[in-house]
Amino acid sequence: MSDLPPIRHRLSFPAPWTHDFEVETRLETEGCRSLELAMAVWTPGSYLVREYARHVEGLCAEDERGAPLAVRKTRKNRWRFECAGASAIVVRYRLHARELSVRTNWVDAELALLAPAATFLFDPAHPERPHELRISPYEHWTAVECPLPGLRDGAEFVFHAADYDSLVDAPILAGGLEIHERVVEGRPVKLVQAGDVARWDGAVAADACARIAATQARFWGGLPYEEYRFFNVVLESGGGLEHRDSTVLLSGRAVFAQRREYRRWLGTACHEHFHVWNVKRLRPLELGPFDYENENLTRGLWFAEGATSYYDELLLRRSGLVSVEEYLEELGEFLSRYLATPGRLVQPLAESSYDAWIKLYRPDANASNSRISYYTKGAVLCFLLDAELRTRTADRVTLDDWMRAAYARWSGARGFAEGELEALASELAGVDLSAFFARALHGTEELDLAPALAAFGLRFAPETTPAPAWLGVAARAREGRIVVEEVRRDGPAWCAGVSPEDELLALDGLRLEVADWSVRLESLPVGLPLELLLARRGRIRRVSVVVRPQPQRVRKLELDPAATPEVQARRASWLSELA
Ligand SMILES: [Zn+2]
Repeated sequence: MSDLPPIRHRLSFPAPWTHDFEVETRLETEGCRSLELAMAVWTPGSYLVREYARHVEGLCAEDERGAPLAVRKTRKNRWRFECAGASAIVVRYRLHARELSVRTNWVDAELALLAPAATFLFDPAHPERPHELRISPYEHWTAVECPLPGLRDGAEFVFHAADYDSLVDAPILAGGLEIHERVVEGRPVKLVQAGDVARWDGAVAADACARIAATQARFWGGLPYEEYRFFNVVLESGGGLEHRDSTVLLSGRAVFAQRREYRRWLGTACHEHFHVWNVKRLRPLELGPFDYENENLTRGLWFAEGATSYYDELLLRRSGLVSVEEYLEELGEFLSRYLATPGRLVQPLAESSYDAWIKLYRPDANASNSRISYYTKGAVLCFLLDAELRTRTADRVTLDDWMRAAYARWSGARGFAEGELEALASELAGVDLSAFFARALHGTEELDLAPALAAFGLRFAPETTPAPAWLGVAARAREGRIVVEEVRRDGPAWCAGVSPEDELLALDGLRLEVADWSVRLESLPVGLPLELLLARRGRIRRVSVVVRPQPQRVRKLELDPAATPEVQARRASWLSELA
């Protein structure tokens, strides 16, 4: 706890329809001749330098009597203020907030969704310094929600953060909010909604959130927070971001129109809530204390995101919110997508984590060929490891035990170092698993899924139809044109010299139409040279392409009817609801 006086921020929204809002930051100088304040360049959970300072406009400073003070930028994200004997300085700036995502700022007449890292200045010499936050909402907004201790003071909402870390971990949602509160293990679990909630069944979603919290509480052995908020902004689909005691979800309007969409939303909610433990408390050594002004490189995201991705769907199943059939459908698609990604044989998993800042968060047209997501392969590793632990210990040890043991060891002041989770798995299993991790975490060779599928009594359903013809491109209709977005390495189009951004014009003498090009591609004759007409940078080109059968289709997983009683019992305990 710092004995420095708090930095006091005030936010006001005089004209939110312009997407602009005003920030005033006041702090005591403590007799300093000059002070330097900074704005974060990234926010935890989203591993990309976003340069939040680029949205700052008209920054100026004055003393407590209103006399202007000199200010000069000293870095891309820092400002130095000359105090000139003043006892306090007041900094004012405007922020333009028109980037709708879970880690940036959005303000309009209806609502404000603010990422604190993108909003507030902090004292880089004293990140332990407390912050006070006063928010004057736009006149038509009825509520401000933020997971910090606070109160309403007349027209203003006041919140207190013990230090800068706590401030950054507390997203702000203001507007005409719809709040559904449930109680899980004596703790309030709130669904706080804004946006187009008319077609959204908040009560059903809030019940599901409570069910997720209750299932995870049973998994981990209690809830580590006093209160939790699922912030749900219903405007367009845009994922989620985890915080210590809350999450921000960006959701599509039509989620309740389709069971599948709703399942996806449940999966995201379950994923983000699992982060309460995995990454917000149990974390890689490198992810705390954070350096808010530089990349924080870690090889540990395969666990932080991979294990969370493995459990998000599995715990939905164990919560009873999805059926066994729905879970297997999801897992089958997930494994199929993994097997269809050539980059799994190029980039090691630990490296995928380390390079998140320059690769996963900066995808390009060659990404699938050259990279594998640590979410995806991390979850595959966990699936394989779960089977490995169960089969090697006669079902005495499961991945659940590994998670809980890791939490007991590394959720305190110190996170886990490289190699420690792997050593813990060997310790729990009583056998050396280093060869498993060398292959799955540090290698690029193909991982055999068959033993894990057999261990859980699962199999891919036999194919009943021949594979469709495959060109090996991902393309999209753009302004009436069919434009290539990705070319699969070593696929037919790759071998023919097709490139991303090429426009596909005609194939086998027939023009390709936006309306039915993908169906036409699938019915092409396989194994014969065909003429493909394309346009690249305005020039027409002809290439010869030999279409092949699609090598990896999305496949259905099913329960293996030949599973032994022992395997059936394991499968049942793996998939059964947590009582
Ligand atoms: Zn995540």
